[in-house]
Amino acid sequence: MLKSSTNRLIATVIGTILLPLIIYSVAEISSVKEDEEMIEKVYRDQLDAIIFSINQFSNDNLSGLVDRMEKNISPTLEFKKDEPYLKYSNIVALVVENLATNQSKQVRIFGDSTVQIDWKNLQDSILNANPNLKTQLIRYKEGGYRKIEPKGTILVQNDRMQVVHSVLETTDGQAMFMTAFISIYGFANNVLAPKLQQIAEGDLIITLGYRGQEEYVYVTDTISKEVILSKSMWLIPDLDVGISSANKTVSELVSERTQYNLTASFMLILLLIFGFSLVIRNIRREMILAQTKSDFVSNVSHELRTPLSLISMFAETLMLDRVNSPEKRKEYEEIIFKETNRLTNIVNKILNFSQIEAAKRVYNPTSISVNELIKELMHDYAYHVERNGFSYEMHLSDELPNIEMDREALYEALVNLIDNSIKYSPNEKYLSISSGQKENAVWVEITDHGIGIPADRVKMIFDKFYRVTEGNVQSTRGAGLGLALVSHIVDSHGGDIEVESTPGKGSTFRLIFYLNSNG
Ligand code: ADP
Repeated sequence: MLKSSTNRLIATVIGTILLPLIIYSVAEISSVKEDEEMIEKVYRDQLDAIIFSINQFSNDNLSGLVDRMEKNISPTLEFKKDEPYLKYSNIVALVVENLATNQSKQVRIFGDSTVQIDWKNLQDSILNANPNLKTQLIRYKEGGYRKIEPKGTILVQNDRMQVVHSVLETTDGQAMFMTAFISIYGFANNVLAPKLQQIAEGDLIITLGYRGQEEYVYVTDTISKEVILSKSMWLIPDLDVGISSANKTVSELVSERTQYNLTASFMLILLLIFGFSLVIRNIRREMILAQTKSDFVSNVSHELRTPLSLISMFAETLMLDRVNSPEKRKEYEEIIFKETNRLTNIVNKILNFSQIEAAKRVYNPTSISVNELIKELMHDYAYHVERNGFSYEMHLSDELPNIEMDREALYEALVNLIDNSIKYSPNEKYLSISSGQKENAVWVEITDHGIGIPADRVKMIFDKFYRVTEGNVQSTRGAGLGLALVSHIVDSHGGDIEVESTPGKGSTFRLIFYLNSNG
């Protein structure tokens, strides 16, 4: 009954509190993962937008330049002014061709003009490699769309250049094919740099670099972490725009937090399980104690009631002079005496026990002879033992050394053991008391041929209030205090108790007392 109610309690606790909490935590943990993915995506989208705006800016820049060119170039390919604005975009050279007259011209804008470079020739080789490019751009223009097409890169005097092509229309309505050679380094450092600095304010670091190369063409700040996202530029396809973070990236922060949350949740669950197991253990212990206490009360009442009713019955018979023969009278008086003794024993046991519980019991050890004490005890108890139908044997070893022990307490311990042997031997009524010496210890043994104790209970019989509930034990009386007292007495004198018992065959209780205190 006790077991099933504790099991019910455990099931209730797990079902109503622990399980929902664990489910909740697991749900939380998995949603943390989803959150992390979402934040990560939002972050990447933001980085994407930044790269988009950089591309947009480059295109706008070049587009504005071509606008101005259209306004400033004459049909004979003369630039109306010296064009400083061309320098802004770091255009090193231009090749312009009037598509109507087929006249063409090359202009060197940057660099050492004494070094002769045939830009036209460079343009031709690119156009030869891309035969459709020119006609396509012309067709776009005719369709009303002026496209600036990057195609080809060249290295001139150690300067890597992006070649871009477009068809433009002068204010006089003449169509021109234009090829511009842009210094990538110059464009990155002069045109893009201020814009990148402006965007990178705060946590971001923006890099410009050739794909697959360690060195950057331009970086907004010293870069300490990996590039998170990198994309090719529209205008300069060989150049990658990359974004890194100065501090912890959002995904690092998120994963750090996820890690922290997971550990915290895990610890919490562990703590919870640990707490609950403690609570359950305590409740179980309390329930067992409550059960044993109520057993104790009913056992003690039963123990007291039986002698009291016998005493009262026989005293009344004697009082009313209803006994005729003197033998009967003597027998009744004996019963009253025996039962009074039993009552005294029970009450003494309870008193001794409560003294032990209150830690008030004091022992007065003196040097005593174990054999003398056993002889005295059996002298007092022989009658009692025999009256109960027992035969007994004594095997006392000669010349036992004295031990330091409270005489009364040892007497009480042995009486309890003998009482138990009598109580728990319903069939073969045999009792033996022996003493002996082994190394530096003196032992006393009490053996019976009684019901014995199941092996798994031997440890518990010394617990207060504990009684073995199997066998015919229920029919014998007791409060579960006897062995608790024996155990306390022996422990207090630094001794040991050994039990050998076989159910159905009998038990041996051996008390061992060491001759010097360190045992
Ligand atoms: P009580 O005898 O009052 O029940 P004890 O503390 O003396 O309490 O013993 C505890 C239990 O140990 C007993 O209830 C009994 O089941 C078991 N026991 C003790 N001594 C013996 C014995 N000699 N033979 C069999 N069982 C015993």
